[in-house]
Amino acid sequence: MTPGGGRPAGASKRGSGAMLSQVIDLIEKHERFAITSHIRPDGDSLGSSLALCWILRGLKKDAEVIMCDRVPPAYAKLPGADEVRVVPDVDRAYDAAFVIECSDVSRPGLPGLKDQFVVNIDHHSTTALFGDVNWIDSTAAAVGEMIYNLAKAIGARITPELSSCVYAALLTDTGSFHFSNTTERTFKIASELVRHGAQPAKLSQAIFYSYPYAKVKLAGAVLSTLRRDETGRIAWITMSQEAMQDSGASEDDSDGIINYPLTIGEVEAVAFFRELPQSTYRISLRSKNRVNVARVAEQFGGGGHCNAAGFTVVADYDELSREVITRLREAVSHAPAANGREIKPR
Ligand code: 5GP
Ligand code: MN
Repeated sequence: MTPGGGRPAGASKRGSGAMLSQVIDLIEKHERFAITSHIRPDGDSLGSSLALCWILRGLKKDAEVIMCDRVPPAYAKLPGADEVRVVPDVDRAYDAAFVIECSDVSRPGLPGLKDQFVVNIDHHSTTALFGDVNWIDSTAAAVGEMIYNLAKAIGARITPELSSCVYAALLTDTGSFHFSNTTERTFKIASELVRHGAQPAKLSQAIFYSYPYAKVKLAGAVLSTLRRDETGRIAWITMSQEAMQDSGASEDDSDGIINYPLTIGEVEAVAFFRELPQSTYRISLRSKNRVNVARVAEQFGGGGHCNAAGFTVVADYDELSREVITRLREAVSHAPAANGREIKPR
């Protein structure tokens, strides 16, 4: 599609700099933009989408964030979150739709996106080049970092609102600056964001210290299912529909529980099996060091990063868990030594 409709322009496979200049060019030449991200939005997808919306509005463009799922309570206080429009499909005319942090065009759950001029912005190496413009930077700790680069490159004013949204994206996608994607560059950007008005304690309080009671009750029920294999290097937990209902929790409340088994010293990979209705399971995978769980998720039709990935399948639990644990065992035994520092392109 050309912006606003027309013939396909073809996907770009050029370098990240060239891709950024295409995005800038598109913004400068057009007026009406939608921004969306994946179902069950998280800190990076929401923070980045809102930050981009602040940039566009600051440039006097007509922009809005549309999502198929509501904003989770943890992110409800982010500037602009109250203006996110929850829609079952694309229902207005736009010159272009930005699709943030998605592996394919179906991830936002908005079928009409395929008829839009799509700008795909992501930092996952597994992402498909599904957009009419594709800006992928797998060296970015979070898409928020890319949006911040865009803000500076396009000459946007770095406001406290924009800074808070980008900070939330960085904070959540680096696991509160614990994960290996945390680099000198991450702290440099975080420092600039704080200088421009992001308030770290306030944002952490809103995101990590405002849980509903039901969420912690659910964590208790799920952690009581904790098991590990005979090596002790792989652990897994399971959430049944019953556990969710008994705690009065929603599926969103299960986010974050997977981090507990990973706190065990010798555990290198964790699987979290979530039972959804109709024999469907949503699986999250996490790992330490260079154990690549994105490769495992891909084997089941999903994706993600080396240390955080996921997929959804219809399956029999016993068979599924056996298969996933076998694949995790392979990933753990094939992983390069943990002491080798990964060299990333700058
Ligand atoms: P989570 O476990 O938090 O749902 O997801 C962790 C990571 O895996 C995220 O980066 C997310 O994008 C990716 N991921 C989770 N589920 C899927 C999926 O079904 N498909 C793809 N491609 N990626 C997924
Ligand atoms: Mn991300």
